[in-house]
Amino acid sequence: MAMSPMMQEYCKTKEQYKDCILFYRLGDFYEMFFDDALLVTRELEITLTGKDCGLEERAPMCGVPYHAAETYINRLIERGHKVAICEQVEDPKKAKGLVKREVVRIVTPGTTLDAAALDETKNNYLMSIVSMEEHFGCAIADITTGDCFLTEVDKPQKLLDEINKFVPAEIICNDSFYMSNIDTDDLQNRLGICVFSLDSWYFDDELCRRTLKDHFHVGSLEGLGVGDYDCGIIAAGALFLYLKETQKTALSHMTTIRPYAAEKYMLIDSSSRRNLELVETLREKQKRGSLLWVLDKTKTAMGARTLRSYVEQPLIDRDEIEQRLEALEELNKNGMFRDEIREYLGPVYDLERLISRISYKSANPRDLIAFASSLEMLPYIKQVLKEFKTPLLQKIYEDMDSLEDVTDLIKRAIVEDPPLAQKDGGIIKEGYNEDVDKFRRSRTDGKKWLSELEAKERERTGIKTMKIKYNRVFGYSLEVTNTFKDLVPDNYIRKQTLTNAERYITQELKELEDLILGAEDKLYALEYELFCDVRDTVGKEVMRIQRTAKAVAALDVFASLALVAERNHFVRPKTNTTGVIDIKNGRHPVVEQMIENDMFIANDTYLDNHKKRVSIITGPNMAGKSTYMRQTALIVLMAQIGSFVPAEKANIGIVDRIFTRVGASDDLASGQSTFMVEMTEVANILRNATSRSLLILDEIGRGTSTFDGLAIAWAVIEHISNTKLCGAKTLFATHYHELTELEGKIPGVNNYCIAVKEKGDDIVFLRKIVQGGADKSYGIQVAKLAGVPDSVIQRAKELVEELSDADITAAVKDLTSAKKKKPVYDQMDMAQMSLFDTVKDNDIIDEIKGLDMGNMTPIEAMNTLYNLQNKI
Ligand code: ADP
Repeated sequence: MAMSPMMQEYCKTKEQYKDCILFYRLGDFYEMFFDDALLVTRELEITLTGKDCGLEERAPMCGVPYHAAETYINRLIERGHKVAICEQVEDPKKAKGLVKREVVRIVTPGTTLDAAALDETKNNYLMSIVSMEEHFGCAIADITTGDCFLTEVDKPQKLLDEINKFVPAEIICNDSFYMSNIDTDDLQNRLGICVFSLDSWYFDDELCRRTLKDHFHVGSLEGLGVGDYDCGIIAAGALFLYLKETQKTALSHMTTIRPYAAEKYMLIDSSSRRNLELVETLREKQKRGSLLWVLDKTKTAMGARTLRSYVEQPLIDRDEIEQRLEALEELNKNGMFRDEIREYLGPVYDLERLISRISYKSANPRDLIAFASSLEMLPYIKQVLKEFKTPLLQKIYEDMDSLEDVTDLIKRAIVEDPPLAQKDGGIIKEGYNEDVDKFRRSRTDGKKWLSELEAKERERTGIKTMKIKYNRVFGYSLEVTNTFKDLVPDNYIRKQTLTNAERYITQELKELEDLILGAEDKLYALEYELFCDVRDTVGKEVMRIQRTAKAVAALDVFASLALVAERNHFVRPKTNTTGVIDIKNGRHPVVEQMIENDMFIANDTYLDNHKKRVSIITGPNMAGKSTYMRQTALIVLMAQIGSFVPAEKANIGIVDRIFTRVGASDDLASGQSTFMVEMTEVANILRNATSRSLLILDEIGRGTSTFDGLAIAWAVIEHISNTKLCGAKTLFATHYHELTELEGKIPGVNNYCIAVKEKGDDIVFLRKIVQGGADKSYGIQVAKLAGVPDSVIQRAKELVEELSDADITAAVKDLTSAKKKKPVYDQMDMAQMSLFDTVKDNDIIDEIKGLDMGNMTPIEAMNTLYNLQNKI
């Protein structure tokens, strides 16, 4: 038995799109067959049916109506599938034999264009990665906006930083990427990134270069500014090959590719991004409560996306930072103008995504009207902006094209409130095109002819109630109620019977109908054609429009940052490259918003590269240690975004990276033990922090036994504070009071604590940071505050008396006075570096001292500790 011809065609197409679900258009439905049908019924919970396919068994089949297909496609994309859409590409009425079908587009997570599936405040990125001998080329594109970037990095860790920065919806890569130590399952599970590997031909050097040259119409890649990026070019070439294959359009809105050096931005690893709650909160994963939530008062979708990218990539170039700060300052000095600009930005739609849809020819007449009404704001914005003098605002002014020609064209051509349907006329304005006006006239004239005919027939037949009716299926007819049936003349031809009337046609009416409907058909076709012409003409201005959109976005961001600064009493920070971080009365930008009645207590921070490198911060739980440390990190980060900061005064030494290791936060999702996660992060920090980095370490070593934990914390501080090994500025919160012993012993280490006041049996949190170490942990008082029952509190107090910190504190005290071993640091007296003397066996001490912490994997560290513990 042979398969039916249609199924043979289907199988031929499916063969070419093996890795996609094939949506095969049959009439008003997209149908799926065989394995695709089984998969889709499972994923979408729709009914599985069957279709005779010529074989003995029916082919498994399922289908979705074409008008609702987007929703189904989105759900499949969200689950990590690709969908190939196969359309009928000829009119079934005109087809000889089987209707011709073609795959017109492949929708993938990184290339979806459906507005419903996209968050307008976020970019939807596709990232292409090529891994070549520990060197990575990386290209990133958002086809909904036309943005495209390219870079190269030399370590998997750095690549991971880039992935975390962009959080693409989809990664395409070569096979070697899987060998690079990057956990692709984690990318998928944790960040929802779909990873697809492509055949090796996509990464052919020659082909990639040619693809880029052809797309950008350049003779050499140097001309594009990407000549030096050998690896990056391959990633970008593969990206464009993939886009051409999936989109099957010219991608004329992808007008540039911007190379960037990853080092140009502050490096923030993924856990620090999460811990600092930059764009979403740690627990609820929502924007409310994040830094972005405080900073984002943008008026446009483009502005919202740009601000998000600023927050995700703080700068490290001092000039660039200062330029942004200067722009903010000028905007705030002219608050009235700033507010006027914001007002004009209000009605501006998403120009970037609109122009992409225009390029894709998927924009409808209403989109064009929205587009024009947005562009109409530009001259007003420019007029106000003209007054501003700072270079950045001037540059925005220059980049912003008021695009009056485009606005004018759309306004002239398209009616103000066009219908949704594009092929039923009513789109083109009166006076734009002579033929349209002519066809419309014959339509109105037609109406007149019809009523004349009606009157004439009434007169002739004596049927006074006769009416001319119109119906989409039957066209025009003369309707006669049953009462007058007998008066109907012979030349009337019956067309349709109703319950109490009959409808007829006459030769004369038929001729009129042809004339009227013919004009209508021609009118609709012409209107559609003219609309497409207008859309294409606008599409040709893509470069000017994109540049303008970027300028609008940046202006929106600066106006928003300026307004937030004014409302929240932020100040312009000074910046320096000497490494001093000096914050007077700093506040946590988010916590201060959450606390009522301005109750937030401001605190100072001072760190430098010399005597004040490491601050050890003690204080009871709930005192405010984490808040204080995060606030310092956020203030530095905000300054490097180019934002004003929540403080009375701030001078920020620009940092290259911020690392945070906050709390023993459980990472149950990743299936790793808490301690393991903690140590992995510590390892990453110790390996990658430089003397220009800022480290926020909260309760390191908490996840293991007290003794191990203290030992690790101690060793970590030794490592960090050693300028030869690291020397990063560090805030280190700990509940190991023993660590306060390090002040004065290791250069650069200083003690601070968050003050509390004892009030009888209770404590009052003062939230003020002061010099010196805390002497008590007040754990029991905090437990009491938290509502632990009195009986338990009493019992705990008794136990405290009995135990009185017996083990560790006593051991440390005992041994701080004993004879010491050879010093680790020549500058200091190691008389007090005695913690490890509690262990009797000198070999163990030597073993610990000999450890190469910087080069140990967490597993090695754990195993070593375990062995050491067994020896005690
Ligand atoms: P710790 O890390 O010491 O356990 P947190 O930093 O988590 O304490 O702070 C506990 C709570 O105290 C925070 O949720 C916040 O509401 C409040 N808090 C912290 N710092 C301040 C401050 N400077 N002013 C006012 N309230 C604060």
